[in-house]
Amino acid sequence: MKTFSELKLIEPIEQSLREQNYETPTPIQAQTIPFALEGKDILGCAQTGTGKTAAFSLPLLDYLGGETVKAKRGKPQGLILAPTRELAIQIADSLKVYGKHLKLKTTLIFGGVNQNNQVREMNRGAHIVVATPGRLIDLMNQGHVNLSELEIFILDEADRMLDMGFLPDLKRIIRELPNNRQSMFFSATMAPKIVELANELLYEPISVNVAPKETTVKNIKQELMYCDRGDKPGMLLEIVERDEVESVIVFTRTKRGANVVARRLEQAGVGAAIIHGGKSQNARQRALAAFRKGQVRVMVATDVAARGIDIDNVTHVVNYDLPNEAEAYVHRIGRTGRAGATGTAISFCAGDELDYLWDIEKLIGNEIPRDPDSVEPEYMPPKKPGGGRRGGGGNRGGGGGGGMRRQGSGGGGGGSKNSRSSSSKRRGGSGSAKASGSGGGRSGARTKTTGGGGKPKSKRPGKNARNRVKSAS
Ligand code: AMP
Repeated sequence: MKTFSELKLIEPIEQSLREQNYETPTPIQAQTIPFALEGKDILGCAQTGTGKTAAFSLPLLDYLGGETVKAKRGKPQGLILAPTRELAIQIADSLKVYGKHLKLKTTLIFGGVNQNNQVREMNRGAHIVVATPGRLIDLMNQGHVNLSELEIFILDEADRMLDMGFLPDLKRIIRELPNNRQSMFFSATMAPKIVELANELLYEPISVNVAPKETTVKNIKQELMYCDRGDKPGMLLEIVERDEVESVIVFTRTKRGANVVARRLEQAGVGAAIIHGGKSQNARQRALAAFRKGQVRVMVATDVAARGIDIDNVTHVVNYDLPNEAEAYVHRIGRTGRAGATGTAISFCAGDELDYLWDIEKLIGNEIPRDPDSVEPEYMPPKKPGGGRRGGGGNRGGGGGGGMRRQGSGGGGGGSKNSRSSSSKRRGGSGSAKASGSGGGRSGARTKTTGGGGKPKSKRPGKNARNRVKSAS
């Protein structure tokens, strides 16, 4: 499929896509949207930056917008779960853009703010809810949200949800879903726990892997600068003052570190936004908005807060501290070089970060090019970020991991991710798993004979099976 018009989306959506100058579907969109429009369940292994938000939003909007029914008090038809408030807001913004010419109501539900507005909006009725799990459960428990009439359920960044300890919340929500629904499940990695959850949730999913390796960072120029800890503030200042550094995200390992780095920059006359989990929701949104609008050129961030955030035109990423989880490196540098632009990722590495560097290089299967002027520091054991250094070498080699694959397709391995608490360094290998038959039931039976416990028994009818009214505007 080469163009969006081949998808035969309803005209109001096509209009929005034209306004956004979207012409060609990205691979994840091309591989999932046709099936999602038929009502099939989707299992997508994809990161942000691949166009996955539109991959699930367009079928959702097409289905609900095709024959809009009045939004019911507290009973959404579509639910999108995201791990962080920032991502939920970003998804709701995308829905607003793609659904601009539709009369669908979307409500955002997330914690950290007073619930009154969210309750009011649910009482007025919403077709679609975009939520983080914790607050959604609060509102469900209070009777403000009822999922009994849900038709489409979307789980975004499932791996991040599990990392953040949301599994019990997810299970609780999944229990409330009606059997007759469509589910779409997206995750950047496919660790065994994710696969287990996917199997619980999905019925004969179409399984698509567009992130063959987590290490696809082809538009990004990477550089490593060895240093002593004390050199980092001066090095950072020198970088942010370079002409070509138009906008830069600086990653630190800790919230405290982020505050210190931002303060030092401010003292040197460089305005910096800060985004980390210790900041209030409003402060985080303000910081993000200031950075997005270019009011500040520098944003200092920790991993949790910045993951999944999509900001265009970030020219540079600086890893002020190397992450203690190798995969975070890939996610961090993926903040730049988006949508075909080129970007630069510069990483500082002090003696107590060499272990982290080796882990990262094992994961990406390459050596990060060294700044020729920097000298490898003396090795020091890493400072323990809660629990000390993880064990020995492991078999993390750069080869293809055991990711989820579309049945019958030859894509590369997806790489499975150990859960955060794991002390093992194993990667890949054991994680290989497949969703239940990707081709199954494509043209026929929608009725599942087994099921229960939140499992779908039958599917909602797909686009082609419905008597849809193509709305003209
Ligand atoms: P996502 O992976 O959903 O975060 O999307 C990454 C970026 O790609 C966003 O800025 C989208 O607006 C943009 N995008 C998504 N799909 C397309 C498309 N088919 N054509 C052009 N841009 C797109």
